[in-house]
Amino acid sequence: MTVVAVTPFDEWGLRLPSPLQEIADDRLHARDVRLLLKRDDLIHPDIPGNKWRKLHHNLVAATALNRRALLTFGGAYSNHLRATAAVCHRLGLASIGVVRGEERLPLNPVLAAAVRHGMTLTYLDRGSYRRKDDPALVDALRRRFGDVHLVPEGGGNEHGVRGCAELPGEIGTDFDVICCASGTGTTLAGVATALRGRQHAIGFSALKGGGFLAAEVRRLQQAYGRVTGNFSIETEFHFGGYARSTATLASFVADFRQRHGVALDPIYEAKMMYGIVALAGRGRFRPGSTLVAVLA
Ligand SMILES: *Cc1c(COP(=O)(O)O)cnc(C)c1O
Repeated sequence: MTVVAVTPFDEWGLRLPSPLQEIADDRLHARDVRLLLKRDDLIHPDIPGNKWRKLHHNLVAATALNRRALLTFGGAYSNHLRATAAVCHRLGLASIGVVRGEERLPLNPVLAAAVRHGMTLTYLDRGSYRRKDDPALVDALRRRFGDVHLVPEGGGNEHGVRGCAELPGEIGTDFDVICCASGTGTTLAGVATALRGRQHAIGFSALKGGGFLAAEVRRLQQAYGRVTGNFSIETEFHFGGYARSTATLASFVADFRQRHGVALDPIYEAKMMYGIVALAGRGRFRPGSTLVAVLA
């Protein structure tokens, strides 16, 4: 198996820079707030946008080190596992997905897609999974799978931050606030490092108990080598926790689709957008300001 150079990324039909789309929403206009969507969800059908940004420089690093496989971690419905499998398949790299919890057969559509792209799956019970960053556990995985490039859950390392730091530079217009939905906080960490002047980033936690996120964002920025104070995190719009929803959120998504023809991802982006509209209604954004919301 040959590891190909990193240049063919351009030939994958990745849509970069991702489109910027203005949305006319009465609820924001009533507050004199302008909303632009950064459509990272349109970058590639198999590789959701922020997953691409977080994998890109990990692939560059793995290739430079001549690693033949990427090993990474995720839950059973992890977009990151699926995206990792897809990019590795394209590059002729092997991929190993360490899945939280017990094996369940038949595989759900996310893991089935990963396996179709050649990913080897292995499982860790929840207790061990929580300790997945322990050197002993990492050593055991390396002994078992060989000379792999290890990528943390959700692409959360300095390479992931670097990729996400490329996003603000693609926005060819002035803006005041940039919003993203947060899981690991890597996207927020990277985006915040690339803002200018008084620009501010807000992360909307898709997980319950998002209180850990601020420290995590700082840790990621430290790993990348640039720590900023220009971000904040909203922990109120989790709707019960990761992948949970409510009737209120579901009808918000249906209504948003009707208004704008945009189907929001229910796990992340719907919660962010609900939060944006709610905060605007509370007068949180200065009249005359421009928001960018990242769809990934
Ligand atoms: C993974 C994912 C996120 C979370 O990004 P983090 O960098 O982990 O905070 C947000 N939105 C979508 C659509 C995702 O797939």
